[in-house]
Amino acid sequence: MKIRLASDLQSDSIVDGEGIRTVIWTQGCSHNCLGCHNPATHDFKGGFLTDTDEINKELSLLEAQTGITFSGGDPLFQVEACTEIAKHAKEIGMDIWCYTGFTFEELMKSDKNIEFLKYVDVLVDGKFIMAERSLNVDFRGSRNQRIIDVPASLEAGKVVLIPKYVGERHVDVSIPKKEHIYI
Ligand code: SF4
Repeated sequence: MKIRLASDLQSDSIVDGEGIRTVIWTQGCSHNCLGCHNPATHDFKGGFLTDTDEINKELSLLEAQTGITFSGGDPLFQVEACTEIAKHAKEIGMDIWCYTGFTFEELMKSDKNIEFLKYVDVLVDGKFIMAERSLNVDFRGSRNQRIIDVPASLEAGKVVLIPKYVGERHVDVSIPKKEHIYI
């Protein structure tokens, strides 16, 4: 099945979910979040076309990767192709994170999306909202975005958040005591 990507697979990421991850940068997004970090991925005719079989072959050859992360762009605009890849990633023992500008509740209205979510471990959902931007939230850009335990959410029929990612990190901005300054 064809899939349009923004770039080649990116291995060894430590910022797109837990562990060491290979990122699949999908091409195409119409959410138009103000301040989007990746506007070059919006054009649905941009990037390049490849085949899910090719992606799956590449994934099988990777070493020392915890899992894959779907990002973009918004992967959910190519949900059937992403499902093909997600199935294979699970078969070879990788876990799956996915970023989307849709909310979990919006995704649950479509059977195709639900089929994809059955393979996803963690969903980071919602648009990037500039007014909610924070540098003190893990693995996301704005406070409104949620880090969702997908298997638990599907079972409960409602969003179940991963507790350690709820809210902002405490950041100590106090000035270090003199004896702790080494220059
Ligand atoms: S959903 Fe992501 S890629 Fe799409 S506009 Fe928003 S921040 Fe950018």
